[in-house]
Parts: sequence; C-alpha cells; structure tokens
Amino acid sequence: PTTNTVREEALKKIKLNLTKESRIGEIDFNNLQFGKKYADHMLVADFDGQEWKNAEILPFQHLSVSPSNAAWHYGQAIFEGIKAYKDQEGEPMIFRPYDNYARFNISAERMGMPSVPEWLFIGGMDLLIDADRKWVPANQGSSLYLRPFMIAADEFIGVKPSDTYKFVIITSPSGPYFNKPIKLLVQDKYIRAFPGGVGYAKAAGNYGGAMYPTMQAKKQGYDQILWVDGAAFKNLQECGTMNVFVIIGNKAITPDLTQGTILAGVTRASVMDILTDMGLTVEERPISIEEVVAAWKDGSLKEVFGTGTASSVAYVEQLDYKENLIKLDTTKYSVGAEVIERLDAIRTGRAEDTRNWNYKVGS
Ligand code: PMP
Repeated sequence: PTTNTVREEALKKIKLNLTKESRIGEIDFNNLQFGKKYADHMLVADFDGQEWKNAEILPFQHLSVSPSNAAWHYGQAIFEGIKAYKDQEGEPMIFRPYDNYARFNISAERMGMPSVPEWLFIGGMDLLIDADRKWVPANQGSSLYLRPFMIAADEFIGVKPSDTYKFVIITSPSGPYFNKPIKLLVQDKYIRAFPGGVGYAKAAGNYGGAMYPTMQAKKQGYDQILWVDGAAFKNLQECGTMNVFVIIGNKAITPDLTQGTILAGVTRASVMDILTDMGLTVEERPISIEEVVAAWKDGSLKEVFGTGTASSVAYVEQLDYKENLIKLDTTKYSVGAEVIERLDAIRTGRAEDTRNWNYKVGS
C-alpha cells in the first residue's frame, strides 16, 4: 500500500483535537534524557469487541482507568519502540515502522489481543508526528522515540481474555540511551524465555520478569544480563532491550530466532544487512557462551555489541561468565563503529536509503 492511501484513511478516521498551547519551550534539546518528557499530543483509540473506534489525536494527558482494569491484573499489555529522525532538509522520517507494525500484531496474537489496522498504527503515527514535527530533534544521536502500546480495557477481574482494548501512541524526544560501553553478566540462575513461551512477543510481562534478576546483576556492578537458554551449551539469547552480535574473526554471529525465545529486533535485521554490505560473513545460528569463551581464549573474539532501537549499538566492554572475566577494548571496535555510522547515515538521510527503510511523514 502507498503511504498516501494509509494517510488518507487515517485522516478520515482519526479526529484531530490539537492544543493551542505547546509545551515545547520547556524542552532543552541539548540535554535530553530518555523517556522523561512527552510531546504535545498522543493518539488513543478503543476496540469495542468488534472494531477500532474513537480514534483521536489529543493533548497528552492521563488516561482514566478502572481499578478492575484487566491489563493490570492479568497482563494483556504489549508495546513497541520506534524512532523518528529528521532528514537533511529537516523533514521527519520514521525508521522502518512497518517492521514494528508487523511485530506489534505478532505480539497481539500471542497475547490473545486484537490486531491493529494499518490506518491506525501507521497512519495514526504519521498524523501524530506531523502534528508534533517540532518535537523531532535534529541533533546527532537524538530522535523522537515513539511508543505505541495496547492494553486490555475490560473492567472485570475474572481471568479471561479481555473483550475491549485501548491502543495508545505517546512520543518522547530522546538523546542517546547508553552512551558508555556496557558490562554484561552471563548467569544460569534465571531464564528470560524458553521455547513455547512469550519471549518473541513485546509483552509487558517479559520486562517485569527481567527486573529482579537485572537488579541483582546491577548490585554486582553489571549493566545488564546477557540471557542464555537453560540448555547444556547455554546458547546466547539477548541482553536488556537489545539483540546481541559477536564478531569472531571476519564473521558476525547473532542468535537465530527459530526457538521463539528472542525478540526479532528491527535494528538486528538492519545491522545484519549493513554487516553484509561491509563484507562480513553474517551467521544467524545458535551460539553458545562456551564458543564465545573459546574465541576469547584463542584471540579471535574481536567485538561484542548489543543492538536496539533505544540504544542503537552498545559496545560491550566486559562479559563475565563464571570464572571467565572477558574484557574487551572497545576503543578498537572498528566494526561496531562503522555499523553505527552507516545506520545513522541512513536514518538521517545522509546516505542513500537503498532498502526503503525510511517512512516520510506527511506525504
Ligand atoms: N530485545 C528486546 C527484549 C527488546 O525489548 C528490544 C527493543 N525493542 C530488542 C531486543 C531490540 O529490538 P529493536 O531493534 O526492534 O528495537
């Protein structure tokens, strides 16, 4: 479908209730923290059990929710994370929103929630950013973070799939997320996801379940846990809100998605293409912590980095597994550095967008 058809449908179906008093004067664009300030507007819509209705873009405000709201009790709650950048002419572009749209509906299905139509997710996001285009930062490394989410809306405390739902998009101007190299802990006490579970869904409970183990790791001085499965060889999964890449010799290895335990990152997919463009051999396959340790011991382990929308590319400077304390010199990360540069150039229109990753807002 062309952008225009979706936008036209959105214009017909979404009510615009815009503020006369922007709060943008309160924002210091040179000192943006992640996820603390929200743009002037948000989008809301209701699923009544049959269809999506009451779609509206309105001033950012609290939602009124019953204490018996089913999402709070049984966790039917999913979300996405997307970024909008400015191109070289200052026009807003969204990075690969159709990939997040597809993933959102995959998450919805796994959680027994309704799918969201294109006019609402893509068209709604287009109109929302168009209204708040001044909120898309132009400085390097900064962007407008977009947070679409869906929650159960039934006011009922019996355990069952909700009949009604609320879809919301809020947006937040953001600076770089992890601006320093990170330390990861590989442990085998806690497991994030297992085959048949919900690891591949961007469901709220996945994040809730990771809080306690991550708190324990932080107390020991780590930034995140690098999750591994429970199998004997302890295959890597992902870390925090990032997928993981290991550079061994001229190969870039990232865990495959076949078990359904890992979120299929949009940055991951982009980085795989970029690494291929750079001439590396990209392998998507099970990779165990034992293999990483062996590569470190024989000197072929070059780089380890995480990839995600919020963090972009985060260098790993330390990776600890049992008695193996792997330290890596991130000042020598030439692969990671080139990936960041190429990704950033595409997202901000400095390089040609040969794969059509950018969605131009308002056209
Ligand atoms: N894994 C998890 C658990 C995440 O929350 C995220 C962030 N969405 C990622 C990986 C990276 O995905 P993406 O590149 O699409 O942001």
